[in-house]
Amino acid sequence: MTSWNAIDEAIGRHLEGSLEELGRLCAVPSVSAQGTAMRECAELLVNMLQARGFESRIIATDGHPIVYAERSGRSDRTVLLYNHYDVQPAEPLDLWESPPFEPSRRDGQMFARGVSDDKGHIECRLAAIDSFLEVEGELPCAIKFVIEGEEEIGSVHLPDFIRDHTDLLAADACLWEFGAVNVEGVPVQYAGMRGICYVELSVETASRDSHSGETGSIFQNAAWRLIWALRSLKGTDELIRLPGFYDRVIPPSERDLELLSALPDPADYHHEHYGIEGYLKGIEGGLDLRREMVFVPTCTICGLTAGYQGEGSKTVLPARASAKVDFRLVPDQRPDEVLVQLRAHLDQGGFTDVEIEWMGGGPPGRTDLDDPFLQMVVASAEEIYGTPQIIEPITGGSGPNHTFLHDLGLPVATAGIGYPGAKAHAPNENIVIDHFVKGAQHTARILTGLAEM
Ligand SMILES: [Zn+2]
Repeated sequence: MTSWNAIDEAIGRHLEGSLEELGRLCAVPSVSAQGTAMRECAELLVNMLQARGFESRIIATDGHPIVYAERSGRSDRTVLLYNHYDVQPAEPLDLWESPPFEPSRRDGQMFARGVSDDKGHIECRLAAIDSFLEVEGELPCAIKFVIEGEEEIGSVHLPDFIRDHTDLLAADACLWEFGAVNVEGVPVQYAGMRGICYVELSVETASRDSHSGETGSIFQNAAWRLIWALRSLKGTDELIRLPGFYDRVIPPSERDLELLSALPDPADYHHEHYGIEGYLKGIEGGLDLRREMVFVPTCTICGLTAGYQGEGSKTVLPARASAKVDFRLVPDQRPDEVLVQLRAHLDQGGFTDVEIEWMGGGPPGRTDLDDPFLQMVVASAEEIYGTPQIIEPITGGSGPNHTFLHDLGLPVATAGIGYPGAKAHAPNENIVIDHFVKGAQHTARILTGLAEM
């Protein structure tokens, strides 16, 4: 029988050491988008895991390497822990109150790029592992780690890695890379994620820019071509015009809507933090808002580039224009199908000159709400947080959960140390140290819970 007092005490006793180790991990600037210190960070993790008796190694991919580790436990049950060691670029640097790769502790928080997303989650799991190894000399269940280095750039090589290593990665359940408490401090179970199809659209109408006075009435303008093409993707009614785009959309079930109804209304937060006047489609809040946020697919222009944007004026006709566009997809839409629909739609509209570059993506994925592992993770939160996790049936964001769900056949559940003020991807990313402790304690319950299932 696990003595939870002893486990929780061990987590507390080693907290300083855990945070110091987390600091060392965060000091490595493993920015996947820039390719800095990736190998160094992977090697540090391998050493950290080997020091805990894990068999651990670096596995090469065509991109940044993956760290794999495993250690057996008292029970044959196996949990696969998915995490990532890459972080987002730290820019803009001048908005950080302390340097992003010099971890700093202030007011019960720790600040550094990656301290929440996702290195703090790795360390939180190690803290739970350390407590079992110290108190019981063994793990309650077998643990496998998959720690990738490309999550922040779309997990480009992860699905192939998973499909090539299904035997190695065999497990009973998967604990996802993140978890969080919501604005009310209630822990959240994110039971699914939307998919994503990210593309760059580009147009080139001439070999170089020209004088708008000489050519404005006779040359194609790349910026106009791109704008007209973009304009054809979505109407002012917010409906996406790709043929067949909505065919696979599964509307939320009664149970999904019940779960959404129980979630806090994000309207106040949006008004306060973004200064928006209102929502699209005249939505005011409540269930309509929550449903729209996660069960409706999107087409978002993420960035636009063309012509001259510097100071003053420049009378130029741009030869090139490009836009980054993401489509967030809901079950059962498929990114590969959206790509085909997009090409067909542009061609039909006369935009054969608009090129599409696939920049990554993956299908949506959901864990069965009745899955016993998911329910165990939800229920075991109560002992730590005083309340079970509240279930979000699916989140608006995306991740490679589909490959764990469908290629490995694992239920995927979330638990972790995030919170709404974590500023992941932004300056002053941070964790609250109390959340770290609670996350480690909850992780310990999850490991034991799986062993006993
Ligand atoms: Zn991230």
